[in-house]
Amino acid sequence: MTIATAISTFSVLDEVAIADFAASIRGQVIRPDDPEYDGARAVWNGMIDKYPDLIARCTGTADVVAAVNFARQQNVGIAVRGNGHNVAGNAVRDGGLVTDLSLMKGIQVNPSKRTASAQPGVRWGELDVETQRYGLVTPGGEVSTTGIAGYTLAGGMGLLHRKWGLACDNLLSAEVVTANGEVVRASITEHPDLYWAIRGGGGNFGIVTWFEFQLHQLGPKVFTSMVIHPVAEAAAVLRGWEAFTRQAPDEVTSEAALWRMPPSPDFPPEWRDLPVVMTNTVYAGPVEEGERAVQALRELGARFST
Ligand SMILES: Cc1cc2nc3c(=O)[nH]c(=O)nc-3n(C[C@H](O)[C@H](O)[C@H](O)COP(=O)(O)OP(=O)(O)OC[C@H]3O[C@@H](n4cnc5c(N)ncnc54)[C@H](O)[C@@H]3O)c2cc1C
Repeated sequence: MTIATAISTFSVLDEVAIADFAASIRGQVIRPDDPEYDGARAVWNGMIDKYPDLIARCTGTADVVAAVNFARQQNVGIAVRGNGHNVAGNAVRDGGLVTDLSLMKGIQVNPSKRTASAQPGVRWGELDVETQRYGLVTPGGEVSTTGIAGYTLAGGMGLLHRKWGLACDNLLSAEVVTANGEVVRASITEHPDLYWAIRGGGGNFGIVTWFEFQLHQLGPKVFTSMVIHPVAEAAAVLRGWEAFTRQAPDEVTSEAALWRMPPSPDFPPEWRDLPVVMTNTVYAGPVEEGERAVQALRELGARFST
């Protein structure tokens, strides 16, 4: 089965088979003439402009199995869409079928086991809201609107990774629909080769319909620091930041970036559109400890703000 391809393969699809497929799923099958089509084929990167033959908006594992079986029987390629944040636009394709999982938003937290199960349409901010009810977290994305699915399958590097690793390091198990339409569980003991592959190998090994994550205690208050300096301070700030990160405890995850301030009304007019150097840091532990651990970084060079 082709999970995603950049090659344009428009197909002549069997109308009866499409009607049978559409009638067999709880979700919706969208075709190029439907009013929802343009919205449904759009992804986060607005430069991506692809035209699938069909988009299947799945509502559960059974719909995903039906989509995989339909595509295999009709010999059409599949693209899989979690939340469509992949910048290369791999969640959509020209021709063939997009299996859109963005409506699959189930989340279940087990606070006593410190685990959470989530479906592939969930975004990081949505998972955080549910796990934070118990003061628990799994290492996720820096932007709360990115999808958990594509992120975890590709590794997933966020602002808790020095303490608890990448998102894929915290994936305990997954429910996967394979190319022949079977539903299997992948974990350290079940299909361990598949489990190895989906932890960083991207979305090429089947369609993941449930993710089970390890949770850790953190929050609801977390110490974070963002310091923005004029770009003239870059050499001093980056040298100081490098020295700081060499000795920082594992609770500290910090990144430095050369950036241009957005021309946004969220910032004072004198800062807008200026080149800057910034550090962005999270402390995975008690807030007071974080303040002490990150103080040296906050004192580096002239700055705009903290
Ligand atoms: C604003 C923004 C911030 C970001 N921040 C970070 C960050 O902090 N750290 C980081 O590591 N990355 C970051 N990324 C990259 C992000 O992790 C990827 O774009 C990721 O693919 C998003 O997940 P998604 O479910 O939306 O992916 P999609 O675009 O839907 O899919 C991406 C790929 O995964 C496959 N896929 C998706 N779901 C499944 C599934 N259930 N089963 C099998 N294959 C699937 C798709 O076929 C496609 O090939 C960011 C991206 C954006 C746009």
